[in-house]
Amino acid sequence: MCHAVRLTLVRYVYGDEVGRLDGRVAAPAEPAEMARRYGEFRVYVVEVCQSCAWNHLSRSYVLGHGDPPPGR
Ligand SMILES: [Zn+2]
Repeated sequence: MCHAVRLTLVRYVYGDEVGRLDGRVAAPAEPAEMARRYGEFRVYVVEVCQSCAWNHLSRSYVLGHGDPPPGR
């Protein structure tokens, strides 16, 4: 593994409800914002090294307001 000091946290969002955002990188404040709009989606936080592109999954969690999506 990489021992670099400069590790960047990158957040990916996945979910059936989030449409075009599925599998995309989210800004730091974006998951909380999306949680008010979507019922359920998962956030994967990945640590990435800027110099060697080493990366690993730091954690993942589920967000959302919990209501079923409209129109179903
Ligand atoms: Zn590195």
